[in-house]
Amino acid sequence: MSAIIISGKELAKEKREQMKLEVEKLTRQGVTPGLAVILIGEDPASQSYVRSKQKSCKEIGIHSELYELPETTTQEELLGKINHLNHQENIHGILVQLPLPNHISEKAVIESIDPTKDVDGFHPINIGRMMTGQEAFLPCTPYGIVEMIKSKGIDIEGKQVVVVGRSNIVGKPVGQLLLNENATVTYCHSRTRNMKDLTLTADILVVAVGKAHFLDGEYVKGGAVVIDVGVNRNEEGKLVGDVNFDSAKDKASYITPVPGGVGPMTITMLLHNTIISANRVANK
Ligand code: NAP
Repeated sequence: MSAIIISGKELAKEKREQMKLEVEKLTRQGVTPGLAVILIGEDPASQSYVRSKQKSCKEIGIHSELYELPETTTQEELLGKINHLNHQENIHGILVQLPLPNHISEKAVIESIDPTKDVDGFHPINIGRMMTGQEAFLPCTPYGIVEMIKSKGIDIEGKQVVVVGRSNIVGKPVGQLLLNENATVTYCHSRTRNMKDLTLTADILVVAVGKAHFLDGEYVKGGAVVIDVGVNRNEEGKLVGDVNFDSAKDKASYITPVPGGVGPMTITMLLHNTIISANRVANK
């Protein structure tokens, strides 16, 4: 039997229709949500991510400002720009596109963003709040993943979750969010032994490694929910996930495709966080 596809593209479309109405309402209240995006250098992948974030803002009426700074920008100059945006009233969210050039400290940059405008959810204050189950800006990719699972009415409570990957932006927080939903969570990473024994226990398997077709159906328990976060190019230049979709879909009950899976939901949750931030200002 072939798995049901969880389409991030379709869910994102639905959510964005609703968000458009929320933005209109806020605009009528005099607070148009505003997002500032800072891009350093000319990495083509980052440029493409930033362009789609801007396009998505425009589509639902969020005001967006893009600051494209040269690769030679100093850390001091960047922190100065962030400080300015922290105080700019019409900006409710600030996003610095990662990765940064080597001479700039990612930690210093993330920590310089006002936590109330940290719509990426990367600031240690938001991470700490998320860990302790308090209200916080949730990191967009993990947040989108939880929304995708819930959109199909899949019960998370009590489920065995295995997350492959432990990055600060995807693996660790998605495990934490699923733990907050009362799942039992196991993490796998590059030092994990007998990974297959672990992935085969997963009712929900989340894979965020960054290697094309890293896992196939052999690693999937029959009936598992498979969430593929990876975005990779194969030898033919085609976008593929970390999971071999064709092989995994015959074992899984639900599966996310690449492209059209987790990706569109990541931007959607960024828009959502920006609206939440503007809403807080409007209802202060
Ligand atoms: P990352 O920072 O490179 O982390 C990769 C993780 O995979 C690490 O924790 C690493 O373990 C683990 N890993 C590497 N080789 C492994 C192996 N052989 N066995 C088990 N684990 C292994 O990557 P990331 O930022 O989390 O991104 C992961 C993927 O998701 C990438 O393809 C990225 O493009 C994609 N992504 C997609 C979205 C989206 O919106 N769709 C958003 C973010 C990321 P160690 O910690 O031990 O090194």
